Amino acid sequence: PPAAPVLDASGVSAGYGGRTILQGLNLQVQRGQIYALLGSNGAGKTTTLSLFLGFLAPSAGSVRVQGTDPVTDPDGARRQLAYIPENVALYEHLSARENLSYLLDLAGQPEDAQAIDQALQAAGLDPAAHGRRVAGFSKGMRQKVAIALALARKVPALLLDEPTSGLDPQATAEFNRLLALLRAQGVAILMVTHDLLSAADVADRIGFIDAGRLVEEVAADSAASGDERFDVRALHR
Ligand code: ATP
Repeated sequence: PPAAPVLDASGVSAGYGGRTILQGLNLQVQRGQIYALLGSNGAGKTTTLSLFLGFLAPSAGSVRVQGTDPVTDPDGARRQLAYIPENVALYEHLSARENLSYLLDLAGQPEDAQAIDQALQAAGLDPAAHGRRVAGFSKGMRQKVAIALALARKVPALLLDEPTSGLDPQATAEFNRLLALLRAQGVAILMVTHDLLSAADVADRIGFIDAGRLVEEVAADSAASGDERFDVRALHR
């Protein structure tokens, strides 16, 4: 039988304070797959990530992370996940290396200096920056520290919110190469983005969400090749 998806939302409805945002959402991300979730502002993209993180409970349907229910076992679900928000929060007065060491300790996974440097290097952070305070780091460098943390934790799933917004094309391409590296290691990746071109470049599947409903889902290579099922205008019909 096919392996169960790492990230699985089935028939999910959810909202805030009685206001329904997501309706009947079905979204699955397999091991070694990159899924890009696109949609306009307020469509429900960040809300979808919140469900997997256990910040929000569905009013209907079920959510699973590696088989774990984030509602009943949020710590268990978060152990399987790395979450990279649009603006990565780090300890500003600490170096990249110290941040990683401290955050891995907090995650109950202390690592030696060599493993930490390896993770930072694998994430593409210039070795000259490993010992520098992160206070002066760009958005792209902060993301590399966050990716290094995900690599060192060896999580099966990665959630990203608008990872390439504000990055220049070269940094975006570099970031997408990193995601492809994680995919090659079998990580299931769900990224929220406004950037269709970047999504088509890196993702295996693209889902379009509009007013809380997944209105289209396509294989990304069909998006790139102009498959007629891929039609951004569908969002506005
Ligand atoms: P954006 O691209 O602007 O981040 P999004 O697709 O991520 O949009 P969400 O952040 O999921 O959209 O928001 C969906 C809807 O839920 C919006 O109408 C938003 O105002 C509302 N919403 C989001 N978070 C909360 C919250 N904590 N409490 C109440 N309403 C919220």
